[in-house]
Amino acid sequence: MSPPCMRCHSRHLINLESAHKLGIAAGALAGSLKSAYGSLYDVRTLTVASSTHLPLSRVASAVIAGASGGIAGAAAGNQMVRHLLPPGEGTPWLCLGCGHTFRSTTA
Ligand SMILES: [Zn+2]
Repeated sequence: MSPPCMRCHSRHLINLESAHKLGIAAGALAGSLKSAYGSLYDVRTLTVASSTHLPLSRVASAVIAGASGGIAGAAAGNQMVRHLLPPGEGTPWLCLGCGHTFRSTTA
């Protein structure tokens, strides 16, 4: 149950704690896919002549690039939501009516 907005009394609010976790997950996923795709695209163009030979070092570097991209993406997603969070204690809320952010200790 969300509290009414302190500024416009709208009840259309989203919980920034949930948005925070979603932002980290979405950022990590996007970062991993982007980095892994970039590395694997390199593998394909560089191994056309010897397609039967598995480029293990290339696959390994694609996996590492994907993982580090995920970490960078998660950090970006984390920062994106964190700069929205108001300081203080309680549950952080974002009003969809006026964009006001506040914390509530009652919810
Ligand atoms: Zn509002």
